[in-house]
Amino acid sequence: MPRPNQSVQRLYCETDLTAQALISLGESQAHYLRSVVRMSIGDAVLVFNGRDGEWLAEITELGKKRAALVLQNQTRPQDEAGDIMLLLAPIKRDRLDYLAQKATEMGASHLLPVITKRTQNSKLNIERLQANAIEAAEQCNLLHVPQIEAPRRLDQILADWPSDRSIIFCDEHADLEQGLSDLQHLKGQKIAILIGPEGGFDEAERAGLLARKDTVAVSLGPRILRADTALVAALALVQSQIGDWRQG
Ligand code: SAH
Repeated sequence: MPRPNQSVQRLYCETDLTAQALISLGESQAHYLRSVVRMSIGDAVLVFNGRDGEWLAEITELGKKRAALVLQNQTRPQDEAGDIMLLLAPIKRDRLDYLAQKATEMGASHLLPVITKRTQNSKLNIERLQANAIEAAEQCNLLHVPQIEAPRRLDQILADWPSDRSIIFCDEHADLEQGLSDLQHLKGQKIAILIGPEGGFDEAERAGLLARKDTVAVSLGPRILRADTALVAALALVQSQIGDWRQG
């Protein structure tokens, strides 16, 4: 039986999780267990993959280049993932890590970087963003990791936008209180939240968005927020009004 130590480390892995399954870990996860959190053979870790819930595992091998775990028992059943797509114009590189972590913690299920007229940074390291999302999911006890997609231009995204998903457009020019009460009709619906770049949306983009039937403009208060702050504010508004901060 593995020796559970006080704060059991959580690890995300892609493989299927079943009793007695042997999980092999690559160099980065082996390094993390061996040299960062200084674990040893026989210690316990928790493993999740976004499909099979969370499992208690015992470290059976721990080398420089690889490690191995054997699964013991399921500790948490898989929960239902939310379905909130976050359309976000990428911001400066140093804040992107923060953005991937906060989107994960606040329950976004997909992160879709959008290139708008005023987007400065369109070269994104998707692997790095995904690694940040995985780390956030491991640390804040999630059973899912948001899917991070490759950046696309806003006009292309909107041109073939699915008819069953509404867009909550964070509009810094919206009237105060707009969006505080009129999100209820979106409860249980597929939604996306759209946040612009540091430079905001240009007039044509904003007019196009406001003209769409599937788009609801919301205000995030009287102050102009940085895009990464707006992300947290918008997800807090949505989760508290129609999301998983409420029962059922
Ligand atoms: N440069 C713009 C602000 C852009 S802030 C200006 O000065 O007007 C980046 C993005 O965050 C905006 O495009 C918007 O999507 C969101 N945002 C920031 N503050 C907001 C607010 N008070 N209400 C709604 N959305 C906001």
